[in-house]
Amino acid sequence: MGKQDCLFCRIAKKDIQSKIVFEDSQVLAFEDVNPQAPVHILIIPKEHIDKVSDLTPEHAEIVGRLVLAAKDIAAKKGVKESGYRIVMNCNKDAGQAVFHLHLHLLGGRKFSWPPG
Ligand code: 5GP
Ligand code: ZN
Repeated sequence: MGKQDCLFCRIAKKDIQSKIVFEDSQVLAFEDVNPQAPVHILIIPKEHIDKVSDLTPEHAEIVGRLVLAAKDIAAKKGVKESGYRIVMNCNKDAGQAVFHLHLHLLGGRKFSWPPG
């Protein structure tokens, strides 16, 4: 399972260490190594998908699971009431750096809108 050269596949396989906050058969969530907020969690499918623009209707369930995991982790991390942001960057203009689909869960501070 997973792409040999993909950082997040290697994290999913635990070849590379991460601070895991949630895991089930299809989803892994771990602390971002360079946090941009007091709460900054990355939520990934264990299955390799490059990016949002590669999603197909078959991925509807896994994408839903990522969002539901984010909601549960936000509550567990204590930002349910204060609020949080979930972000998926796709390609260059959004600044996607890791080409394994991931959802950022950010919370614990106020975020500006529109985003930078
Ligand atoms: P992107 O810009 O692709 O949406 O975000 C990639 C995120 O992955 C960045 O927030 C970055 O800090 C995080 N990241 C990159 N390498 C690692 C790593 O080895 N471990 C962890 N936990 N996070 C990483
Ligand atoms: Zn991957």
